[in-house]
Amino acid sequence: MSARGPKGIQEGREGPKGTEGRDRKVGRDASRDKIEHMSTRVSARVSAISESATLAVDAKAKALKAAGRPVIGFGAGEPDFPTPDYIVEAAQRACAEPRFHKYTPAAGLPELRQAIAAKTARDSGYQVEPSQVLVTNGGKQAVYQAFATLLDPGDEVIVPAPYWTTYPEAIALAGGVMRLVLTDENSGYLASVADLEAARTPRSKVLLFVSPSNPTGAVYPPAMVAEIGQWAAANGLWVITDEIYEHLVYGDAAFSSIPVQTPELADTCVVLNGVAKTYAMTGWRVGWMIGPKDVISAAANLQSHTTSNVCNVAQAAALAAVSGDLAAVAIMRTAFDRRRQTMTRMLNEIDGVICPEPQGAFYCYPSVKGLLGRQISGRRPQTSAELAGLILDEAEVAVVPGEAFGTPGYFRLSCALGDADLEEGIGRMAKLLADAR
Ligand code: PMP
Repeated sequence: MSARGPKGIQEGREGPKGTEGRDRKVGRDASRDKIEHMSTRVSARVSAISESATLAVDAKAKALKAAGRPVIGFGAGEPDFPTPDYIVEAAQRACAEPRFHKYTPAAGLPELRQAIAAKTARDSGYQVEPSQVLVTNGGKQAVYQAFATLLDPGDEVIVPAPYWTTYPEAIALAGGVMRLVLTDENSGYLASVADLEAARTPRSKVLLFVSPSNPTGAVYPPAMVAEIGQWAAANGLWVITDEIYEHLVYGDAAFSSIPVQTPELADTCVVLNGVAKTYAMTGWRVGWMIGPKDVISAAANLQSHTTSNVCNVAQAAALAAVSGDLAAVAIMRTAFDRRRQTMTRMLNEIDGVICPEPQGAFYCYPSVKGLLGRQISGRRPQTSAELAGLILDEAEVAVVPGEAFGTPGYFRLSCALGDADLEEGIGRMAKLLADAR
């Protein structure tokens, strides 16, 4: 156990993650009821999947906005910039090419697999062959296929929490079991080797390693990445590493890729990535997984029976993106850097809120435990989900409660909105919470 803060380990899959004032126990009970009621119509496996809490908060905020309410949404996990013109133009040209009107190889356009291999060597230093790259329908499909391809029922995955809300569902659908390693603001949301080792059992097969992290913005320093990689290799663990925020790091923080830090992992590592965050391309749906050839060809077989090739026009856009320079992401990074500093400062000025400065991605992840149980606007929220509901009702500000990320007592706020809205939104929250008694 690390001396850097209280840590814990939990076994098993979480219940549905509430956003509407449900706590985790209620969520689990509701899930069981739901499974019983639905058992003859929808399979238990699929009816146990809960709605994406982050998308749900975003949808509710957008619906209130559409109804004329001046809601400010901190829920969205997407850059507020348009896709750069040269990428859009490549897609326009691709539309006119008859070969793109037809099926193409399920694993991706050969020229895109080649360009992703070259981009990976350029950006992280990881050398792979094009045959080790599988082009997927967004990073999400890469996440699902990685777990589906590696896990047998009962295999355990060591998952540091807070975690991104999709991982538990992908692990559960593959029959895997999560072993949570809880981290908190005292360690800057970093799990040490000692924390991870305490979660390892004879059934452990995979370590999930995400840096920079959604939702915390934590970035593991290179020496810690190397130490964790060596521990995984020494214990025969696979590593699934999600590098989708590789280009969004700030200040002194440096991104480093775990199979580069630990070359021994080359045969037991799957890297997940995509164009969504780096090139403001969330709607285009292009991601990829990189891994040993046997794993990639097995995952490509799976994909050949589910979605086949990713839309060729989107692949042509992704080809322009990964073959081009990184000027667009540099501009976005400057804006996110400024906003994360403003947001961290304003959040820490609120009594009862503690917000470590995020080192990467575009989220702040403050503890709001100091506000729970206090009276605010005539109500007394006991959970972060209830507090988020109150803030939406009273201040018309949408945030995602920590219940969605496996750690109640926190909020996730995205910095991917304009500076004026950001200041107005946090200002409204601060005004409401200043009356907490
Ligand atoms: N990984 C992480 C950590 C993410 O935050 C996201 C998007 N929220 C994804 C993967 C998936 O991105 P997409 O499917 O949009 O490519």
